[in-house]
Amino acid sequence: MCGIVGYIGNREVFPILLKGLKRLEYRGYDSAGIAILNGDLHVYKKAGKVSDLEKHIADSDVTSTIGIGHTRWATHGAPNDENAHPHLSQSGNLTIIHNGIIENYASIKTELKGRGYTFHSDTDTEVLINLIEEIKKQEKCTLEDAVRIALNQVIGAYAIVVMDKNNPNQLIAARKGSPLVLGIGEKEFFIASDASPIVEYTKNVVYLDDQEYAVINRTGDFYIKTLGNVEKSPAIQKLEMSIEAIEKGGFEHFMLKEIYEQPKVIADSLRGRMSAVEGWIKLGGLDEYINRINNAHRIIITACGTSWHSGLIGEYLIEELARVNVEVEYASEFRYRNPIINSSDVVLAISQSGETADTLAAIELAKERQALIYGICNVIGSSIARVSHAGSYTHAGPEIGVASTKAFSTQVSILILIALQIAKHKGTIANSKLREILYELENIPKKVEKALALDEQVKEIAAIYKDAPNFLYLGRGLNFPVALEGALKLKEISYIHAEGYPAAEMKHGPIALIDEAMPVVFLATNQSAYEKIISNIQEVKARKGKVIAIVNEGDTEIKEIADHVIEVPATEEILSPLVTIVPLQLLSYHIAVMRGANVDQPRNLAKSVTVE
Ligand code: GLU
Repeated sequence: MCGIVGYIGNREVFPILLKGLKRLEYRGYDSAGIAILNGDLHVYKKAGKVSDLEKHIADSDVTSTIGIGHTRWATHGAPNDENAHPHLSQSGNLTIIHNGIIENYASIKTELKGRGYTFHSDTDTEVLINLIEEIKKQEKCTLEDAVRIALNQVIGAYAIVVMDKNNPNQLIAARKGSPLVLGIGEKEFFIASDASPIVEYTKNVVYLDDQEYAVINRTGDFYIKTLGNVEKSPAIQKLEMSIEAIEKGGFEHFMLKEIYEQPKVIADSLRGRMSAVEGWIKLGGLDEYINRINNAHRIIITACGTSWHSGLIGEYLIEELARVNVEVEYASEFRYRNPIINSSDVVLAISQSGETADTLAAIELAKERQALIYGICNVIGSSIARVSHAGSYTHAGPEIGVASTKAFSTQVSILILIALQIAKHKGTIANSKLREILYELENIPKKVEKALALDEQVKEIAAIYKDAPNFLYLGRGLNFPVALEGALKLKEISYIHAEGYPAAEMKHGPIALIDEAMPVVFLATNQSAYEKIISNIQEVKARKGKVIAIVNEGDTEIKEIADHVIEVPATEEILSPLVTIVPLQLLSYHIAVMRGANVDQPRNLAKSVTVE
């Protein structure tokens, strides 16, 4: 939620900020702003997209070599010009950008008002910069000290960068709960919510930890301290991200590019972690704790949104193959309901960004109660990766489209490996069956490729149903979470109301919705429930619903009753979500494009949900 970027050095700052904000725009896009310092502080901000800000600034002189920029996802106050960041302090000497929420802002605001402060926005952020200013004045201290003291007084989550009109040679950045990366160049520094604004300038980065701040100077020196005022030696890491990975590469939208990347990224997520010929699976993190996982009383999978759907698939897989009791929990519920959890439990936490606030809080709770934490995330160096005892990266590469696609399929790939590795270790799977599945897993990228070749057919179906006000998605077994994910994709980007349901549950309620205007997407690839799903299709047809069925290649029976069939390559049932999800992603994509919706930046959403 919200992207922040800052720069100090010898280059012109404006192009760096603007490009950085465009790269970070997936994180929030209801308003944007920049502040630059050239003798005076100049703040430009505008409701709307970064492109609106760009137009707004077009005729201004923005020459400077120090500045900060922000693209907002509003939490406190409407997305208008006044609430956009950066915010100035009362004196106009300090300015701030902020990602997160200051929970105790109201009491601080009241106190500051009592001391004569006036506020021009409804944000919690403006309160924080004035608190810093007040402390600086009261304590007669440096800006660094004032920032540290202020941050020790606030409750909540933040990544901030502060710039001082009277010190054009320094920026101060701090984090707690929201990500912040420091890029280190030759006598220049970049600071951003993720590495995408930094990667083309330097590969040397430091990921700030929670409760740490960085003081960066134009001279090229910098230091990192904790909020307890203890200096830390910075761990400089090499960025592995490439610029191509964060650009659209000829596709109209990031989402489409990312859908098409799935064969490659699934292969990347499996590489070096299995061999069908030799019959082994080895997830490094899992290996280290295999005995504890083997003896686990229960595995709890916790996640939000699309990752929660992957988690449901994980539950089916682990219970089926490894015979371990699994529960799947929304992280936001788990963290607040005093769950029964102890050292004999294992928690699998799934998050694309590795920064999801609720998932992080769920991990903390489980960790306090001595559970083993296994993180599955995509962003290298992210908070979840760092706080987990062990884990696996999904290797999907940067996912920029707000609606998650390739992150989902790589999460599912990792969960398949986890289920197989535990099953092998526990002896709950025959070696011959394991080999069969591993061989098929190696074939999956090709099968996903074939599913992508159905794009034109899916587009034709999208054209027919693009104006439908509602959609139902139904599936049984492993295809039930796929139905949920298909419905979520449609809701997120086309704003059509859609529900995913277990196909057999339909008759306990949703069947009442079915009439000739209701498109019903059936996931009908699983042979174990084939006859049953045919009955469910008949029930929908009997009520004049329109059936779009995803079936295995060569299926003849469903063709007779469905209005449309989309034939995907058949595969092992436990691997099928990797294939069946593809036409659903494409269907939602095409419908959204045809409805003129902003596919990569759907309204009200943001990609990395770093607030509760
Ligand atoms: N709480 C701040 C606001 O509402 C920052 C939100 C964000 O992370 O974009 O402006």
